[in-house]
Amino acid sequence: MNYYSLQHKSPPVSFKEALLKGIAPDKGLYFPEEIKVLPSSFFNEIDKLDIIEIAYQAIKQFIGNEIPKEDLKGILKDVLSFDFPLITIEDNISVLELFHGPTMAFKDVGARFMARCLEYFTKTTNDEVTILVATSGDTGGAVAKGFLGVKGVKVVILYPSGKVTDIQEKQLTTLGENITALEVSGAFDDCQEMVKKAFLDKDITNSIQLTSANSINIARWLPQLLYYFIAYKELKHKNKKLVFSVPSGNFGNICAGIVAQKLGLPIHHFIAATNSNDTIVNYLSTGKYLPQQSVSTISNAMDVGNPSNFVRIEALYENDIKTLKKHFSSYSFSDFSTKEIMKDIYAKTNYIMEPHGAIGYLGLQKYGLDNDEYGIFLETAHPIKFLPVVEETLNQSLTIPEQIASIMKKDKKAFEIKNYDELKDFLLKQM
Ligand SMILES: *Cc1c(COP(=O)(O)O)cnc(C)c1O
Repeated sequence: MNYYSLQHKSPPVSFKEALLKGIAPDKGLYFPEEIKVLPSSFFNEIDKLDIIEIAYQAIKQFIGNEIPKEDLKGILKDVLSFDFPLITIEDNISVLELFHGPTMAFKDVGARFMARCLEYFTKTTNDEVTILVATSGDTGGAVAKGFLGVKGVKVVILYPSGKVTDIQEKQLTTLGENITALEVSGAFDDCQEMVKKAFLDKDITNSIQLTSANSINIARWLPQLLYYFIAYKELKHKNKKLVFSVPSGNFGNICAGIVAQKLGLPIHHFIAATNSNDTIVNYLSTGKYLPQQSVSTISNAMDVGNPSNFVRIEALYENDIKTLKKHFSSYSFSDFSTKEIMKDIYAKTNYIMEPHGAIGYLGLQKYGLDNDEYGIFLETAHPIKFLPVVEETLNQSLTIPEQIASIMKKDKKAFEIKNYDELKDFLLKQM
């Protein structure tokens, strides 16, 4: 499978090259040249197939012959080695829990898939790759854990000092080995700026092979399409029109859902549920795309004012806003309504949602399901990842799961940096 740049000014590349480059030289996002609908026999028997077989069938065309069948299945088996429970909340609503992976964030799947593919490609060569990422919290932990111990790969993570939760900081700074954390005195935007600058700095890119591990990278973005197949396998027997509500920030997850739909998965409608960062909500109502400065909310993994994957969503709907609006809605919710619904659902059902999942639920509520529709919202993080706000809102203390308790005892190790020159120096001397 080849990938072209959505800016159309760089040549198409293979899966491997798109994975290594992260972004095209013309700064465009890579996009598959073709998406072939899966045979109807596959959907007819999907409830009888195991998750690995489903995942393999769904993703194989995007890899082509670059990773042989048995190796690709091995990678998927390793990546999908935890549960994805679908839990009924109301008669016509279920939640798909995506947080049972090693860092308890849904980004584990994408990060692990990317890591295993990169490992596959670097194993046979002696290539060394450095992954440089900025994180506002969740991405860093998932990437760090996903790439821990992967031969030929070094990971450098920038995070804003004092602006991530204690648990998130421990997840970034206690692993060691090939993972280095850089604690930046500044905000997330400063970290992001420095990373962007490094990718354009010839002194750096001439001496080390840099790649990114955010959802711009196809290998982190595409495997997210598997969630929708997993939910469908469970819900097919209901014979209802499926409506997915996806808490969205950079719109990578929901965009992967639309790819699943293009593969033939019968999804009736998508809801991109956002916090007060409502660039896309405004775009759908006015037709004007106006990126904004991000504002801080309690669902901070979605504090994005200019969602990078939206160009891919437009490409999936042939850049036609009318078609897009037929299949896709977007609503924005305040911190106040987020907390209210967390309390409400807890009181009614005893189910604990964290703020991102709660916004997903609100998306379904606002959409208003018809009798022939069934709603699924995605819960993208374990409540423990947002401990302070969940405990305060529900007036309830949470038990800390074992995988989190064990890292809380470890010592933090991070290098402090203040500016771009210090980052550059670090990369050139240490890498
Ligand atoms: C990253 C993240 C999101 C947003 O996902 P996108 O693919 O960027 O839209 C939602 N919830 C949590 C907990 C996240 O970490």
